[in-house]
Amino acid sequence: MKVRISPKGAARLLARHPWVYKSDVLEGPANPGLYPVQAGRKTLGLALYNPASEITVRAFSFEESPDPLEVWLANLRQALRQRQAALAQEPEGGYRLAHAEGDLLPGLVLDYYAGHGVLQIGSAALEPLMPRLVQVILEEIPLRSLLAKNDQKSRLLEGLPLEVRVLQGAVPEKVVVQEGAIRYQVELYQGQKTGAFLDQRDNRLRMEGFRGQSALDVFSYHGSFALHLARGFTQVTAVDSSAAALERAQENAQLNGFDNLTLHEANAFDFLRKEERRQARYDLIVLDPPAFAKSKRDLERAYAAYKEINLRALKLLGRGGILATASCSHHLGEPLFYQMLTEAAADAQRTVRVLEKRGQGWDHPVLLNVPETHYLKFALLQVL
Ligand code: SAH
Repeated sequence: MKVRISPKGAARLLARHPWVYKSDVLEGPANPGLYPVQAGRKTLGLALYNPASEITVRAFSFEESPDPLEVWLANLRQALRQRQAALAQEPEGGYRLAHAEGDLLPGLVLDYYAGHGVLQIGSAALEPLMPRLVQVILEEIPLRSLLAKNDQKSRLLEGLPLEVRVLQGAVPEKVVVQEGAIRYQVELYQGQKTGAFLDQRDNRLRMEGFRGQSALDVFSYHGSFALHLARGFTQVTAVDSSAAALERAQENAQLNGFDNLTLHEANAFDFLRKEERRQARYDLIVLDPPAFAKSKRDLERAYAAYKEINLRALKLLGRGGILATASCSHHLGEPLFYQMLTEAAADAQRTVRVLEKRGQGWDHPVLLNVPETHYLKFALLQVL
């Protein structure tokens, strides 16, 4: 059995972009699975295939093989082995072990929290293979427990049910993760995504290089950036709209023995507006919003929203102040992100120096051929 695609679909695979849309699939099996993909008589690769999904073909190899599953599992082993040195160095840390397309593993995300694994399957082709995946994962990394946190809405597009299920061992409610000098708790069942935002780990660690009086962490989740700032700043304020996340931020502050953290449950836009009105001043501000542009259609509105929060943050910084600002929306590409910041600086009438252009952590690999894999932009700016 194989999948046949149009010349237009073939052009994408030849450029090593893994996705072929439904309109470019000419013929394929009735059921989801792992199949070779052909254009004319030529085999272009191996892919996860789901006839019900808009992204019908998601390639994980651009070579021929009689056994697509073995190739997929080899990609998985390779991804896990690439993380092994980091795990050995900090077994109590948090890492992404498998990053979907970035690791040639479309449909799979696997995160590691101090010995406990959380996976998410986003493809109907992979779903029936779960027991085999678990076996390979445990062969490579002896996890204390493994949870399938398959509650992401995108599963509905694949025709998959939403469910959270223990796959191995005893999954605790909370796990304590070491991140540089601080520790934080991850709520495995109840947290957002797989429990934490590991893509920002190295950017959070970068915060330990700054010192000052007052710092503000907007879109803080469970106090993530704020915890790192609490060591170098006299007062740290963390803002998030999620009461559950802030409850954990409070626990995390206690866990680290910090008493200089103030938590605010608020809409970030309202909060920043209020701070501007009362002419508040901060020495460092972090902005790490959720993806405002969930689709290309949202882009214009999202651009305006990103600009608004960055403009307001720049106004709250005095001379020498630092803005650490991110966007995790791949629809807002890097050039647009910096254009937005440039406009915000002009409108705020601030001269702004770029200290560093950063991105997602190394365990969230970027493929040049797949621009969508480079989703996180992170700029370290300084007001002159
Ligand atoms: N900085 C965090 C990740 C932030 S994720 C980390 O490094 O772990 C985005 C956060 O923004 C989530 O915690 C979500 O609850 C919060 N959020 C979403 N919309 C918001 C809004 N309008 N105002 C304030 N917080 C918001």
